Amino acid sequence: MPFAITQSCCVDASCVSACPVNCIHPAPGEPDFGTTDMLYVDPRTCIDCGACAEVCPVDAVFPVENLVGSLREYAGINAEYYADREAPAALAGSPLFHAWDPVRFDRVLPADFPRLDVAVVGSGPAAMYTVEDLLLHTTARVTVVDRLREPGGLVRFGVAPDHASTKQVGEHFARYHDHHRVTMRLGVEVGRDVTVEELGHRYDAVVYAVGAAESRDLGIPGEDLPGNLASTTVVGWYNGHPETPADAVDLRGPRVVVVGTGNVALDIARIVAADPDGLDGVAPAARAALRGSGVREIVLLGRRGPREAAWTRGELLGLLRRDDLEVVVDDHDPRTAEEIAVATDAETASLLRDVPRASAAPESPRRRVVLRFHAVPEEILGTDRVTGVRLAGGDELDASAVVRAIGHRGRAVPGLPFDPSSGTVPHVEGRVEGRPGTYVVGWIKRGASGGIGANRADSAETVASLIADGASGVLGRGASRNPVRRAVRRLSRH
Ligand SMILES: Cc1cc2nc3c(=O)[nH]c(=O)nc-3n(C[C@H](O)[C@H](O)[C@H](O)COP(=O)(O)OP(=O)(O)OC[C@H]3O[C@@H](n4cnc5c(N)ncnc54)[C@H](O)[C@@H]3O)c2cc1C
Ligand code: SF4
Ligand code: SF4
Repeated sequence: MPFAITQSCCVDASCVSACPVNCIHPAPGEPDFGTTDMLYVDPRTCIDCGACAEVCPVDAVFPVENLVGSLREYAGINAEYYADREAPAALAGSPLFHAWDPVRFDRVLPADFPRLDVAVVGSGPAAMYTVEDLLLHTTARVTVVDRLREPGGLVRFGVAPDHASTKQVGEHFARYHDHHRVTMRLGVEVGRDVTVEELGHRYDAVVYAVGAAESRDLGIPGEDLPGNLASTTVVGWYNGHPETPADAVDLRGPRVVVVGTGNVALDIARIVAADPDGLDGVAPAARAALRGSGVREIVLLGRRGPREAAWTRGELLGLLRRDDLEVVVDDHDPRTAEEIAVATDAETASLLRDVPRASAAPESPRRRVVLRFHAVPEEILGTDRVTGVRLAGGDELDASAVVRAIGHRGRAVPGLPFDPSSGTVPHVEGRVEGRPGTYVVGWIKRGASGGIGANRADSAETVASLIADGASGVLGRGASRNPVRRAVRRLSRH
């Protein structure tokens, strides 16, 4: 029986190099790799060795016969990826398929390569893949600086608590926190406790992996009303982010509207609809509010049609297969049904074909999630707090809370170049423009898109630039090294 990759795959491609028969695709360098939501095992070639499952940081790979519940359909999803692809020629004569790439040594350091002191700002996935790469390929000493006292970035404070296997990647990263060449400086914010300039003087190279912490606004009247919430507030609230008040989210009313049709909107809908007693990792205050929740319905609003929704197949399936929820498609706009009908199997909209329409669905004691497309919010309604939302066309929806989950953008770090239009730091292959020895990686580098694993290839690019600069003598330490090192130490509370 072959193995199959399932929902929590974060596309870090660790399994690709572990597979002895090259049957996991798309692999780095292949055309679909940059856009795929997950990787797939070719069941025609898999020899059932289990090496992929051993290395997977998020426990996403299982033998097909062990797939249960909503994961069962992943056997078909993996096979489907290869349905119209040629079987490898080698399969014709042999049950095994060995296609070894030629051995490449991309990272050969010159013998006199300096022992670098590198600061990595941030401790989320982009930072930790950078640390891993630096430890594996150089003799650098690395100082990890994070403004929060608890490391992990969005793995700790973003990934939903019901994605326990995804959160496991945090354990993979945590192995490096105690590495003898790594120093953790937590509770230190660059721009507040230490400046970009000071770090630049102290370290040979500084890599900024500060993420994209801002929620995008809708830009409509009523956005400042209490009860109109950024996705970062709701996500921080259920994950126990230290800067999110315990009472930030009020779930006493019967309807919550979530604006957005991406994976974060789905996370919020699932958690707001969840029975918290079945979930580990929900912050205590959020757990109490979820227990006493009056919410009966969560409406997700998409500005465009079902074929344009940004959610991924695995995340949408995760919602549709929940048997404690009723999921329906709103049929106010006739375009919705037409677009679902013509969606190809490769599009996530095709998964909505068998989902009941809101007007036809019978009353159910379960909580209901309504997917409403072609719905453009024009005003958040209410006088002293949110009471609803008005849509283009005049339709009004009552709601006790409105959550905007329409994407993230980076926040400027004082002293670091910043492009406000993209919310990123201008760079070339990770090198910050006009700042030798300064680099960026992750969401602050490429914008807020892509899962955890996408940061791995991104880090490899930035570290390659850093190593090339080290080899060509571009990196050098400033004179005021020791006083600033002391300043950084002093500021650390751990
Ligand atoms: C709500 C949500 C859920 C997600 N769920 C999933 C999922 O289930 N699976 C998946 O594959 N991907 C998921 N993602 C995407 C994934 O989290 C990102 O790809 C990834 O976290 C980006 O990594 P990063 O290191 O660039 O940023 P972050 O993870 O945000 O890390 C940035 C770090 O920098 C620190 N920092 C910021 N500014 C400063 C400063 N000035 N000084 C010092 N430190 C600073 C922050 O405290 C933080 O620790 C999710 C994203 C969100 C928003
Ligand atoms: S079980 Fe072995 S052969 Fe099959 S996909 Fe995993 S690593 Fe490759
Ligand atoms: S998370 Fe990584 S190792 Fe696990 S299946 Fe996906 S690509 Fe492979």
